Amino acid sequence: MSIRVYNTLTQHKEPFETIEPGKVGIYLCGPTVYKPSHIGHAVGPIIFDVIKRYLIHRGYDVQFVVNITDVDDKLIEEAAAQDTTVPVLAERITAMYLDSMARLGIDTIDEMPKASEHIGDIVDLIQRLIGKDAAYVSGADVYFDVTKDADYGKLSNRKQDDQTAQRDVAGEEKRNPGDFALWKGCKPNEPAEVRYASPWGEGRPGWHIECSAMSIRYLGETFDIHGGGLDLIFPHHENEIAQAETATGKTFAKYWFHNGLTRFNTKKVSKSDAAMQDALKKMTLGTLLDSYGGELLRYFVISTHYRRPIEYSDAELESKRKGLSNFHRLFERIERVCGTTVYTDPTAGSDEWAAAPASEFADFAKDVERFAEQFFSAMDDDFNTAAATAACYELNTRINRFVEEQKLESGGSASAKTVAYAAARKLMDLGRLQGLFMSPPESRAGGDEVVDKLMAVLIDARARAKKAKQFDIADAIRDQLTDAGVTLEDRPDVTLWRMN
Ligand SMILES: [Zn+2]
Repeated sequence: MSIRVYNTLTQHKEPFETIEPGKVGIYLCGPTVYKPSHIGHAVGPIIFDVIKRYLIHRGYDVQFVVNITDVDDKLIEEAAAQDTTVPVLAERITAMYLDSMARLGIDTIDEMPKASEHIGDIVDLIQRLIGKDAAYVSGADVYFDVTKDADYGKLSNRKQDDQTAQRDVAGEEKRNPGDFALWKGCKPNEPAEVRYASPWGEGRPGWHIECSAMSIRYLGETFDIHGGGLDLIFPHHENEIAQAETATGKTFAKYWFHNGLTRFNTKKVSKSDAAMQDALKKMTLGTLLDSYGGELLRYFVISTHYRRPIEYSDAELESKRKGLSNFHRLFERIERVCGTTVYTDPTAGSDEWAAAPASEFADFAKDVERFAEQFFSAMDDDFNTAAATAACYELNTRINRFVEEQKLESGGSASAKTVAYAAARKLMDLGRLQGLFMSPPESRAGGDEVVDKLMAVLIDARARAKKAKQFDIADAIRDQLTDAGVTLEDRPDVTLWRMN
């Protein structure tokens, strides 16, 4: 089956056909680095990281570019408010962003161009537009004339009459209300570090032209996929198309992907508690990573199809924590049963499943193949990571059942163990296409002597209660530990514990 993708430009799912066979260029609008990111800023990078991993698996050579907007009015305002300079602020916030990307396991980005380092490309593009009479100088500013782009509005389906809502430099001379700034002349009291030289005097570029210039620089005048959040369709992406296509006379991006926005689910939070809701919205990506870790946040994001809104709540994240830990518990179980780790080097390929004596266990083999097929058809269908993850979950359950059916915890045949191991490896390979299961979870169990001793006391107390047939007490200990995030696992001769 071939890959089909939903294209915002056509509002249809289309067969995915790259401009150059075997090659894919992706440009994703990155952060404006004036304040720390929140969970919503991680959605695009996570989704496109998964898309790139999948496209590589399907044999494509993928170039993935995410820009950094470090020249913008918001940076000037925020730097002034913090009594610092724009470059210092930009550097600090960019470093935080890169740290979050690394903790989320996003290592597929090839280029992260900064607007401040591409002023020459931006000026050149503006000059091309002026040369075509599609842009004009007005005072110290340069504007794009939207009437010179016959199909302006094709991405957002807005007519030019609707464009008056666009906010640029108010009060300046514009030919049409919808015209937007390509270059903004400096205001008298602005600091030196935001004054860039240009043929139109000192100033700085508008946000939209930054992305057109940088995407063309790294991916060419026509490339395959342009992405961003749904809120960027208008005016940002509409204006990017207008600038680029008017300047080059070519199609800018063939496919436009837009991810859903994050909604903070307030139903599970007291509605009267405004402070709590406010705190949720302000929670930075760094804070969330401290609390939940990168793999769980990634799992949480990809459990929803990328075009749908993501409902954020602590309860939802806790439920995903349980879901994710079920996978790791299976991998640990298989390791215990087979005596070999399932967490092999992610860069090394594996083909255990093809070599395993699966035909001896025909029903199980059929199920494994079926869930793997479900995974691939979900990913082929507009990168439906939610359905792909669900297929992984079913495969996880099926392998656990196989371990029980074959009584592998207390023996079982060597061939059953080989097949169980190969199936777990297959599950791990599918997960790794989504950037999951790269390494064993950072277990919070062990390492802390006091916690280890306290857990031994509790497990012993529960065992004594069971022996005395005081099952209500034994169950209460287990339930209260579960509430505290500790899972007990009873083995024939020992009880294991882990913090989720
Ligand atoms: Zn952009």
